[in-house]
Formats: sequence, C-alpha cells, structure tokens
Amino acid sequence: MANIIDGKAVSAKVKEQVRIETEALIAKHGIQPGLAVVIVGNDPASRVYVNNKKKACEAVGFKSFEYALPEETTQEELLELVETLNNDKNVNGILVQLPVPKQIDDKAIINAISAEKDVDAFHPENVGRIMIGDYSFLPCTPAGAMELIDSTGVDVAGKNCVVIGRSNIVGKPMAMLLLHRSGTVTICHSRTQNLAEVTRQADILVAAVGKANFVTGDMVKEGAVVIDVGINRLDNGKLCGDVNYAEVEPKASWITPVPGGVGPMTIAMLMRNTLTAAKAQNGIHE
Ligand code: NDP
Repeated sequence: MANIIDGKAVSAKVKEQVRIETEALIAKHGIQPGLAVVIVGNDPASRVYVNNKKKACEAVGFKSFEYALPEETTQEELLELVETLNNDKNVNGILVQLPVPKQIDDKAIINAISAEKDVDAFHPENVGRIMIGDYSFLPCTPAGAMELIDSTGVDVAGKNCVVIGRSNIVGKPMAMLLLHRSGTVTICHSRTQNLAEVTRQADILVAAVGKANFVTGDMVKEGAVVIDVGINRLDNGKLCGDVNYAEVEPKASWITPVPGGVGPMTIAMLMRNTLTAAKAQNGIHE
C-alpha cells in the first residue's frame, strides 16, 4: 500500500512560508508583492482558476489586480495592457490565463511579458534559463510536483525517472528539473514504442498526459513514486487523474491523489514565484 502524498498539506506549508516572508518584506522594506491576473473571455474553468489565484493572493498578503477582458479583445489591446503592467511598479508578477481566444496569438503575449515579471516562467528567456540551471522562477506545476517528490524524502539522484508527456508547460520542464537533480530521465510521448516497458523501469513516474486512468497497474514498478499531474473531468462531473489510482496505489511506495495532489501545488508555487519576483525587482536578496 502506498503512502499518500498530501498536496493540500504541502501547499499549505508553502503558502504559510510565503505569508510569513511577505509580512517581513512589508514590515522591513514597505514592499507588498502584487500579482496581476488577466483573463480574456468567458471560459468557466479559467474563471475558477483566476478566482482561486485571487483568493491565494489575499491569503498570503499580496495585492492582486484582476483584468477581465471581453471575448472579442484584440491582440493589440491585450499587448497594450501587458505593456502597461510591465511598467507598473505595483505589479511584480503578470499572468495571462491561457487559453486565450483564437484571434490572439498566445506566443506573442507570452513573449511580451517582461521576463522578470513572468511568474509562470513561460517566456523563452526563462525557459532558456531553466535549461542551463540558472533560473529565478520555475513553471508552477512542475515545481509543485518536484516539491511533492521532495516531501517524500526520496532522493532523485541516480533514480530512473520517467515523464509521460512533453508539453512546454509540464512534461519538458519536469524532465529538466529531474535531470538537474541527477535523475536518469526518460521522456515519453504519443509516439513512444512499448510505453509500459519504459514506465516499468521508473523509480519515479510522472504522468502528464491528459487522459483519464491512462497509467494502469501493469505499467508501474513495485515501490515506485507516482506523481499524477493529470486533471480530467469524467462524464459524471468528477475529477480524475491520468493514473488509475485503484490499480496503481497498491504497487506504489508513494502516490499523489487527484484531486488533492499536484493541483493545489500549482497556485502555491505561483505565490512563491511572485514573492521571488518582488524581491528581485527591489534588489532584495534574503
Ligand atoms: P498536453 O496535451 O499539452 O500534453 C500531453 C502530452 O501527453 C503530450 O506530450 C502527448 O504526446 C502525451 N500523450 C498523449 N497521448 C499519449 C499516449 N497515448 N502515450 C504517451 N503519451 C501521450 O497536456 P499538458 O502537459 O498541458 O497537461 C497534461 C495534463 O496535466 C492534463 O490533464 C492537464 O489538465 C494537467 N495539468 C495539470 C495542472 C495542475 O495544476 N495540476 C497544470 C497543467 C496541466 P505528444 O507530444 O506526442 O502529442
């Protein structure tokens, strides 16, 4: 039977640490970190994410600025807002909630956000910095997953790590973080041959596929640490991960549940990145 990795508890700890550091930053330097969240259109899931981010900001003591733009917003209008936020000293982090409506090129928007305020770490400069291991921010979801691996006490060095998924926001940076920790890393994707054979080698298995119950018991090595990044909504409305929990849990040594695993970590890491950004922009290194 696996130990359950409690993402809610670990994320609460990260947020509490951010709250304490924020309190000190305000008291000592009069600086209150600010996060601007921009949402374009009416996607209900995005709306929920944005509201959660706003609540998290309040909980840790940040200023939060929300910009809700109509569905028909043009790329020029959004770029103009990004530019204004880039120049606003009260804003330390800028996050444009993706996806954006189809008339807007998300790459152009990501590229326009000042790299030092890019708390999602999606800007090419920040992506490049992650490659060379010289970064201020990590993308929130892989950073959160890494935090959960660390919470198990399992040392990544020398372990076989398999990441299923090669997206720019999860799979690739996750693999890079595991590599920086000296894991022996394999990245799998939809063209991978004999996937189960590869995943069965994993001491640490990270699933970021976007397919409900994709990772079955026969794909997992006895005693593996299993991190389920997937968030899939079933027809009955319930959330479910990429890992078939009932089959995998008895084999794993550690496993993240969905919900309550990686999900809560993403916002906690966003708060951490915003605090890091606020300190860096004010020349504070403590
Ligand atoms: P993408 O759709 O961008 O990437 C999915 C990856 O899975 C691709 O690399 C794809 O391969 C691979 N894949 C698809 N089918 C297979 C298959 N049959 N065998 C092996 N690999 C396959 O998704 P994201 O990375 O954005 O997200 C992954 C999951 O994580 C989703 O469920 C998403 O909701 C969730 N997520 C959760 C977050 C959180 O806060 N917890 C945040 C972000 C995402 P290929 O490249 O060849 O197409």
